[in-house]
Amino acid sequence: MVLPNAPLEMLAEGFRWLEGPVWFADLQCLLFSDIPNDRIMRWTASGGVSVFRAPSWFANGHARDREGRLIGCLHGERAIVRTELDGTLTTLVDGFRGKRLNSPNDVVVKSDGTLWFTDPPYGIQSDYEGGRRASELPTNLYRFDPRDGSLAVVGDEFEGPNGLCFSPDEKRLYVTETGLQFDPESKRCIRVFDVGEAGASLGNGRDFYKVSPGDADGIRCDEDGNVWASAGDGVHCIAPDGTLLGKIKVPSAVSNLCFGDRHYSRLFLCASQTLYAIWVNRRGAQRP
Ligand code: MG
Repeated sequence: MVLPNAPLEMLAEGFRWLEGPVWFADLQCLLFSDIPNDRIMRWTASGGVSVFRAPSWFANGHARDREGRLIGCLHGERAIVRTELDGTLTTLVDGFRGKRLNSPNDVVVKSDGTLWFTDPPYGIQSDYEGGRRASELPTNLYRFDPRDGSLAVVGDEFEGPNGLCFSPDEKRLYVTETGLQFDPESKRCIRVFDVGEAGASLGNGRDFYKVSPGDADGIRCDEDGNVWASAGDGVHCIAPDGTLLGKIKVPSAVSNLCFGDRHYSRLFLCASQTLYAIWVNRRGAQRP
């Protein structure tokens, strides 16, 4: 999984809390969120780090849709937004049945163009990552279809749904459960679901893997179906049968990660206040 002579590289530091990395191969850049600083950052190999968008309305998780547009989860607006090709922002979802979302955390785009996102309350429980406000909805997992504007709950068994990724064949969806923010006894693990035949529902939810130390937040699959999970001690690489294959040790807790760069075989790590990268011997799945 790892290469014997590939070092863990520190790309930038001095942030408050990093999240939401997404690779733009066409621009050869990484975008990522610095949530408490209310900004989205950009990293390039030639130019280093710069501010991409501030304020970001406390953006957290990111993905690209099938047309390459940036899809973002905003704690501040409690919404899923799309950045259009002309730079304007379109709010896609900000409520369900007349009530406000909590604080969308992470989003993935399925090959049919639908957006699947988690809605825990972490961004509305303090002023640090968005602003304290009342929760109006359960902590659901949603599927949004931009073709007809429909929004459906596809998972309601979570206390704190967080990161998510499809297996390469999209027959499985992995979702991290990070529990109640101020209750260390609440459930924390990676869950896995079977995607229904029509590709629009989930079933057979079960525990997949328990990260320790710390929690799994953001997760990504490689093209062989292995799950690369953020953890308190770095990154855990887990086979589809739940076997731990190996770890990348990182000096600070990793919150999220994504594959990028040449052949999507470089792993970018949002690790608390620091951005790292490491080349690995696998390629990421679900390239935009
Ligand atoms: Mg997250």
